Amino acid sequence: MSDKHVVIVGGGFGGAAAAQTARKLLGASHNVTLIDRKKRTYLCGSLPWLVVGQREPLKVSRSLGALTQRGVNYVQAEVEAIDISTRRVKTNSGEYPFDYLVIATGAVYDWDAVPGSAQAHSFYNIETARKLRDALRRFKRGRIAIAVSGLPYKCPPAPFEMAFLMEDALVQRGIRKGVEIDVFTPEPTPLGVAGPDAPTSLRTLLERRGIGLHAGEQISSVAPNAGEIGFASGKRERYDLVVTIPVHRSARQVREAGLVNDSGWIPVNAKTLETRQKGIYAIGDATTISMANGKPMPKAGVFASAGGEVVAHNIAADVNGSSLEEFTGEGYCFIGYTSEKAAMVKGIFLSEGKPDVAYLSPSVRWHRGKERFEADWRRWRV
Ligand SMILES: Cc1cc2nc3c(=O)[nH]c(=O)nc-3n(C[C@H](O)[C@H](O)[C@H](O)COP(=O)(O)OP(=O)(O)OC[C@H]3O[C@@H](n4cnc5c(N)ncnc54)[C@H](O)[C@@H]3O)c2cc1C
Repeated sequence: MSDKHVVIVGGGFGGAAAAQTARKLLGASHNVTLIDRKKRTYLCGSLPWLVVGQREPLKVSRSLGALTQRGVNYVQAEVEAIDISTRRVKTNSGEYPFDYLVIATGAVYDWDAVPGSAQAHSFYNIETARKLRDALRRFKRGRIAIAVSGLPYKCPPAPFEMAFLMEDALVQRGIRKGVEIDVFTPEPTPLGVAGPDAPTSLRTLLERRGIGLHAGEQISSVAPNAGEIGFASGKRERYDLVVTIPVHRSARQVREAGLVNDSGWIPVNAKTLETRQKGIYAIGDATTISMANGKPMPKAGVFASAGGEVVAHNIAADVNGSSLEEFTGEGYCFIGYTSEKAAMVKGIFLSEGKPDVAYLSPSVRWHRGKERFEADWRRWRV
């Protein structure tokens, strides 16, 4: 058997899981190469904690160089093109031929999709989360608006988690009375993806904490100098601090490789995660997978890493003749509620008939679960 080249593009949640699992399952003569433009990756689920001053950047990051000690050939480079016909990945530091390719490029943010929103705050990457933390520290009174710019976006509960944690931080600083917090989202039923109880429970929790919810509102502009946001409905709202969740798109390189469908994301076989091209797999945020109710599966790190493990097993099955694995869409997500409590959403998102997902109310137990998840991620167990 000739040596095989497994190339993984992207070292986030999905790519790191695929690389580590492939390395464990394949003999040493086979190459496992992971290419990412970055040296460090950040645990996005911990960014809301960072915004409210409960984490420092180093504690929520890991260095991709550590993969080298685990037998993975990590290459820091920009992938410029994926050539399907010649089966090569072209980077700014050379070309990488592959027998098997795993695309784990995640989502990129289009900060200009909503005019003016590039000047707004955000917390969807480390740079914006740090700036928002500084702005929140300086904030004394007024209105905070958190607005979702478009669907789909990563981790559907994150805007609400951010609102809950900001509210908690303002209470602890003794300035809550002078602050209004409002969340705007184009979704008519926020958190509908998290099971039948989640939307009502979310509304109850937001009401209890005095956080306004404006569902079905599509943001169309931000006027930073005027302190005003506009909506497709014609509504205009004033704000003192605006936080947007940017429009998400797939990476240019996967679009140019002809791998995406009309949704703008990569369609895959829901069980094997193989694209329409043999031996080319896609996992995580870069993909689109329909659930039994016709809606797309949410974009979340737990699915990306589970997908990474599944494709590594399936590549190993092809190489070694070992058994295949199926992606089930089983996963969970914590929703920070205060500095001591978190809620949780958990289930099998690709179960037949309809997603089998449950919402579990805020408790200390789920907060500890979120802390454990963070610790496991830093030790490369996730
Ligand atoms: C605020 C926030 C909170 C979240 N909370 C949770 C949570 O609690 N639980 C959960 O499960 N998920 C959560 N998520 C979602 C989770 O972070 C993502 O779903 C997950 O990171 C997706 O993993 P991925 O591997 O598909 O992509 P990513 O982790 O985004 O990795 C993609 C990688 O590809 C690299 N890349 C892309 N294009 C190129 C190129 N051309 N050349 C070189 N490298 C390239 C990038 O540098 C990046 O490192 C949250 C997200 C946010 C923003």
